[in-house]
Amino acid sequence: MIQLHDKYFKPFLSQEQILGAVHKMASQIAADLKNEVPIFVGVLNGSFMFVADFLKAYEEPCEVSFVKLSSYQGLTSTGIVETLLDVPENLEGKTVVILEDIIDTGRTLKQLVNLFANSKVKEFKIASLFYKPEVYNGEYNIDYVGLEIPNKFIVGYGLDYRELGRNLKEVYQLNEDHMINLVL
Ligand code: 5GP
Repeated sequence: MIQLHDKYFKPFLSQEQILGAVHKMASQIAADLKNEVPIFVGVLNGSFMFVADFLKAYEEPCEVSFVKLSSYQGLTSTGIVETLLDVPENLEGKTVVILEDIIDTGRTLKQLVNLFANSKVKEFKIASLFYKPEVYNGEYNIDYVGLEIPNKFIVGYGLDYRELGRNLKEVYQLNEDHMINLVL
């Protein structure tokens, strides 16, 4: 169990499980985009670790860039999504693959897709390392999912709780039992 600020988190996914999912995504995408030179667009901050490991596993020619949005405050999605770093220029005719760390309600994804609306891309694909199917109510198909996870708040491997926990190699899940014990 680890503590970040006022919350406790328990181990959820090992490094091996995470990297297994990342490698599987990389081979699947490489096979699907065999004749393309895609541009992978990582969504900061949460995806930095995923993007690094994904690109090391993706052994075909590709480009990489980043966008930055913000929507979460603490444990809940605020629904207010700001663009802090905009889409790369000259995407016309390119195959773009979004690399998201996690898709929850899908609100951030909607904003993200809107950012590319005028880019005249050839093909647009969405890949997310983690995906919470119980809460997703977006309209877009998610082309590649690393791991489907329950609707519980997680940290580690790039994901934070109030900016802490991003550097953890494993993924931890909020320990609600501990919170209940504190209330009782
Ligand atoms: P959505 O807009 O889909 O509700 O939320 C997506 C964004 O919220 C993600 O890019 C991520 O920044 C954040 N997020 C969603 N679920 C979690 C979670 O379980 N843990 C952390 N640390 N961030 C999350």
